[in-house]
This record gives sequence, structure tokens and C-alpha cells, in this order.
Amino acid sequence: MKFFSKILSVFLMIPALFGLYTNDAEDTEAAYREKTAQVAYENTIETAIPQTELYDIISDHFNSPLPEGKTEKKAIVIGYDGCRADALTFVEDSYSGINKMLSGGASLNYAYCGGVNYPAENTQDTSTAPGWCSVLTGEWADKTGITGNGITKTLEYKTLMTSLVEEKVIDSASFITIWDGHFEADNSTYKLEKEYCEENGIDVDFSLNATNTIAAGAAIKDIKKADCSDFIFAIYEGTDGAGHAFGFSTNNPIYQAGFRVNDILAYRTLEAIESRETYESEDWLIIITSDHGGINTDHGGPSIQERMVFIVSNKNF
Ligand SMILES: [Zn+2]
Repeated sequence: MKFFSKILSVFLMIPALFGLYTNDAEDTEAAYREKTAQVAYENTIETAIPQTELYDIISDHFNSPLPEGKTEKKAIVIGYDGCRADALTFVEDSYSGINKMLSGGASLNYAYCGGVNYPAENTQDTSTAPGWCSVLTGEWADKTGITGNGITKTLEYKTLMTSLVEEKVIDSASFITIWDGHFEADNSTYKLEKEYCEENGIDVDFSLNATNTIAAGAAIKDIKKADCSDFIFAIYEGTDGAGHAFGFSTNNPIYQAGFRVNDILAYRTLEAIESRETYESEDWLIIITSDHGGINTDHGGPSIQERMVFIVSNKNF
């Protein structure tokens, strides 16, 4: 499977080598601000929330008392990898995870990645490893050392999956992805943490899947178990994959299609949660967010298109 996806990514690069995917000259900051203005964000780009705050939101949820009538805490973070804040103009009425949450009263806020808010220059790459690591540890790269992809994190700052289980705040967690750079490849971010969990019997399921659909299937399979993981972190890559191959831009219909893949998979994931037999007695924190944006066919840099992300949350913070 990995072999075929490598072949596919090489194949997708060929037109790029011949300049068939030209940079999107229309994707200016002014156009970006115009697009994001059409989305019902509750805050502004200037008052964007640091993505590290998600760490506190999740740990506060698990550490606060159960509301009346509830017997168990649960949480899920669904990540739309590489999803720009203006991509929320793609939200449709049906089969949309984000629309489902917003129409149910969820909040929608801008957040920023990269260590500091735009326009100050980012202090860590606007990329997958630093983005998710800041969400999961509550710290920027000055503490975690994760300035970019391909760096293995020490155990000094552990992810919420590991620390919540280790501290017995929750019983189990799962980390569901299709990217081997998280915990499988050499120099993957959480390689040591995965080994630490295995050696110490810490119940975190590190699940590497072949495709986005299979990853969503793994999340839904977990959710369907009566005793599902207390904290599920599942990343869908439709936006990042389309962006790298054809361009991160809301002018690009393939990026829109990538967003729709994520948003439909999220819808199905949320549906599975609501179908749990014990759903009414459970106190769920549900978040959809992204790790970074992108511009042209890449990300990592300081542009507004790469810097702004979003947080949809069913709980106020
Ligand atoms: Zn990427």
C-alpha cells in the first residue's frame, strides 16, 4: 500500500515538474481576508486563539466534574490536516461534520499555528508535526523541540493521549492517522512515546491506516464499541493531500473535494457518536480543528494562508 501511494505521489509530481500546476496568483492576502469574512467566525484573525489552548480545553474537560445526569466523560478531536481557515466557505448543508456541529450550537473561532500570531514571523514550521504536537502537548517548539517534521520528541512533554491515561484520568485513548511520520517512520514525532506506552502498558492505540476512509472507519469502529476509547484523536488528510498535489487554494476544486472528503468523514464520525447506546449519559467534548494551512502546493512558512487555522467546539471556552 505504501509502495502504491509513493508511486502515486511521484506520478502526481510529474505535472508539477513540467509546471502544469502554476502558483495561484489570485490567492492573495486580500482575497483570503474577503473569503474568511464570509465564514461566521466569532473572533477575528487579530484575536485568533493559540492552537496550544486546545490542550487546556481537553484537559479541563476531563478534569472538571461530571454534569448532572452524566456518568462518563469522552472527547474526540477530528483533525482536518492542512485545512485553511477560508476552506470553511466549502461547508455544505448536508453530510457536513462542521455544519452538523455549527447547527447544533457549536462555536467557531480562528486559531493560529506557528508559535505566534500572524503577522509576526512564525517560530516553528506551519506543518503537521509542529501543529499537532502543539495541540497535544500545549507547548510550542521552544519547549517540545518539534520545530518541523522528522524530529522525534523526547518524553519531557507527553501528548494528552499518553498523559491522561498514565495519570488515570481516563482509561484509554486512540491516535488514528494515515501519515507514518507521526509514530511509525524513522525520526517520527511520537516514536519514543509509542514505545513508552507499549513498555508501560499505557492503553493508547496507535493506529496507522492506509487511506482517509479506512482511518475514519477505524475511528467509527472504536466509537461503536460499548467501551470505546475515552479520548479519540483522528486525523483526516483530504485537504493536505489535495493541497500538496494540486494546490492549497479555495480557487482549486480539488482542494474543495479534499475538504468535502474530510467533512463527510467527520459527519459519519459524529453520527456514530450520537448513535452510541450510552450517548445520553455521556459528556462528550467534540472538536474539529486543523494543524496548519497552505499556499500553492506547500506549507511551513509565514503567510496568512498557512498560519490561520480554526476550532469548532461543542463546548464554550
Ligand atoms: Zn502537508
